[in-house]
Amino acid sequence: MIFRQMFDHDSCTYTYLIAQRESGEAILVDPVLSQVPKYLQLLEELELGLIIAIDTHIHADHVTGLGSLRDETLCAVVMGEHTKADCVNYKVREGEQLKAGDISMDVVYTPGHTDDSYSFLVGNRVLTGDTLLIRGTGRTDFQNGNPASQYDSLFNKLLTLPESTLVYPAHDYNGMTVSTIGEEKRHNPRLQVGSEQEYVELMNGLELEDPKLMDIAIPSNLACGLAPDIKD
Ligand code: FE
Repeated sequence: MIFRQMFDHDSCTYTYLIAQRESGEAILVDPVLSQVPKYLQLLEELELGLIIAIDTHIHADHVTGLGSLRDETLCAVVMGEHTKADCVNYKVREGEQLKAGDISMDVVYTPGHTDDSYSFLVGNRVLTGDTLLIRGTGRTDFQNGNPASQYDSLFNKLLTLPESTLVYPAHDYNGMTVSTIGEEKRHNPRLQVGSEQEYVELMNGLELEDPKLMDIAIPSNLACGLAPDIKD
């Protein structure tokens, strides 16, 4: 399997390219609009065809490349069934397997950061979106975020995966690229809580500024990044 992690410096977003050499079919997860030319070049260089582009949730900090990628490659745009974006071709639900060639991704509904947050399990890797970050968790204070739901997504779903599962988040602000479920269980400060209530209090006590691009990114991303005023 081909697995590539790409970084957008402006938003500290990780985008993942997952592909199978034999079939030449590829999936991109959490693409950033400004990086689309780079993805297209890499797909061409690796002689891959993009079949699916997917966002783990509606992002508030960057404009998605989903719509642009669909225009360029005719790929299918996919998001979870709870998304409010009506521009997607196909909505996946928990328990479903998303397939491209021989690649198979298990869909896990992990709300909390937003109510449309999903994680994707590919072999021994899990793409956790903004639900589980390296030594952190995604904020829960906008886009129908809910710290109690996030506690459930973390403790009753993601942290029940084998400890050796590799954790690939949608962002990192500290230069870390990958972790494991076991490492996060032991060393992630947000996960050292004794109860749901304790987690809710911890998350509600964070005083965070809104992301810079929030007012542009959210409406644009509900249209797969193709709102006319920001397409350029
Ligand atoms: Fe997010």
